[in-house]
Amino acid sequence: MPLIVKIDCPHCHTKSSGFQVEGGFRRSSDLISRRDPAVFIDEDWFLLSCGRCKKCITAQYISEHNSHRELKNVLSQHGSLEDIGYTYKVHFPSEVTLEEPEHLPSKVASPFRQAISNISAENWDAAGTMVRKALDVATRDMARTRIGNEKRSETIVKLWLKKRIEALTSEGLLTVDLSDLAGVLKDGGDEAAHDDEPYSKEDAIRLVGYAQAFLTYAYTVPGMVAEVRERVEDSPSSNTGSRPTD
Ligand SMILES: [Zn+2]
Repeated sequence: MPLIVKIDCPHCHTKSSGFQVEGGFRRSSDLISRRDPAVFIDEDWFLLSCGRCKKCITAQYISEHNSHRELKNVLSQHGSLEDIGYTYKVHFPSEVTLEEPEHLPSKVASPFRQAISNISAENWDAAGTMVRKALDVATRDMARTRIGNEKRSETIVKLWLKKRIEALTSEGLLTVDLSDLAGVLKDGGDEAAHDDEPYSKEDAIRLVGYAQAFLTYAYTVPGMVAEVRERVEDSPSSNTGSRPTD
């Protein structure tokens, strides 16, 4: 049995997921404890893979013991790290990771990517502001590319963001739920851009997560449906309307 630890996965968001130890690095060995000079302390870093999504994190563990213990001997053991005397300290990445949804047009992807990189750089105001820009660009793009009538499409493109969201909803391009979500993104982005108070870390991370959900519904889902449709139309059986005979 490999070594296993339970951690909330920052990649697939599984609570208390079972992570397997894939490797280790000893940063320092046999530091002497201040409390008890007879006790040695090892600081070890482990590469851990999530049992659910297989993506990796690194985690720092400390072990205290009375005699020297080689890391390679630790790695060949079974059970959990806690069972063999390790104490958990910290792991990275610890926050939920934000990924760019697929099928985004590049002009929408660019501000969304900037929102994500501002989260990494801890620029919370800038992250919220870039969410608003991503929404602004996405709603103009939807009006331009999804409304058949050019005159109506250009009228909607020129509207202020709030009115544009309402118009896209009346056109049936946003469901009522997505329209509400777009309203939340707009208000959050406005607050980040214009409020005297700094935008908080929690609000910024939540807002970028909401933007990720909005863009997934607006672009990733239709993009996947189009791919499936293309595959079905390209398959030989769809041309003849009959099943393959062999
Ligand atoms: Zn996972």
